Amino acid sequence: MGSLSQTNGLVIGVANKRSLAWAIAEAADEAGATLTLSYANERFGERTRALAETLSRSPQLVQCDVTNDEEISALYEAIDRQHGGIDFLVHGVAYASRESLNEPFVKTTRADFSQALDISAYSLVALAQGAAPLMEKRGGGSIVTLTYMGSERVIPHYNVMGVAKAALEASVRYLASDLGPENIRVNAVSAGPIKTLAASGISGFGRMLDHHRERAPLRRKVEADEVADAAVFLLGNASRAITGEVMMVDGGYHISGM
Ligand code: NAD
Repeated sequence: MGSLSQTNGLVIGVANKRSLAWAIAEAADEAGATLTLSYANERFGERTRALAETLSRSPQLVQCDVTNDEEISALYEAIDRQHGGIDFLVHGVAYASRESLNEPFVKTTRADFSQALDISAYSLVALAQGAAPLMEKRGGGSIVTLTYMGSERVIPHYNVMGVAKAALEASVRYLASDLGPENIRVNAVSAGPIKTLAASGISGFGRMLDHHRERAPLRRKVEADEVADAAVFLLGNASRAITGEVMMVDGGYHISGM
């Protein structure tokens, strides 16, 4: 019996096989969960469908742009029709324009700021709103999002995404407080740098990886499956008393002063 057997969950943010959301989907599948995968638009649809075929239980697939409230409602209606509730939600979505990551932070435009915060932070609130009634049907649930230490420290080129991650982590705490009485837990995994599509938008990402390898107490980079294992722990019953938490999965990098 896997730690997620008899559960069904929604994983948002699969773009390709390097996506952290995909690593979590694979680990949740291995732990026995039945999944719904949602993808942003048809550009990612074909790849998501191909990946979905490799899972042991065939997942439900739904297109959903997280900036669109109607698509979010339609996503949850589809899940409710097929599964009659939901046990967990994985939020692995973020976006900031290339310009806002290349220019100094002080030059961030109003439009780029709003877009980054809307997609990368508010979407967790909108998705938690939709998930909560479906989780209540199951007597509770678990929500996990993905964040990065750029929320607290200045990381070159992380810029507006750092501000969005600060908002995301604060949202985790406020959502945990609101939804705790319904036995719905909300947590974040703060991952060390991992080469993915989103990471490729951050210039100097290779230097970030080298620095991480040199400075992290474990003297190596973090792998996607290690982030996925932490997420599965937070999704399952083993973490039943943990909520509102940001769990660092970074080889200990964040404890280093020098
Ligand atoms: P990724 O590019 O594979 O995933 C980002 C996902 O966001 C993509 O699937 C993309 O389609 C989706 N997305 C963007 N806009 C969307 C929209 N409007 N509607 C629906 N989906 C949308 O990259 P990733 O690194 O796996 O990122 C997943 C999460 O992990 C992000 O929140 C990222 O900030 C976080 N994270 C990544 C790292 C890293 O080093 N890769 C470290 C810490 C945290």
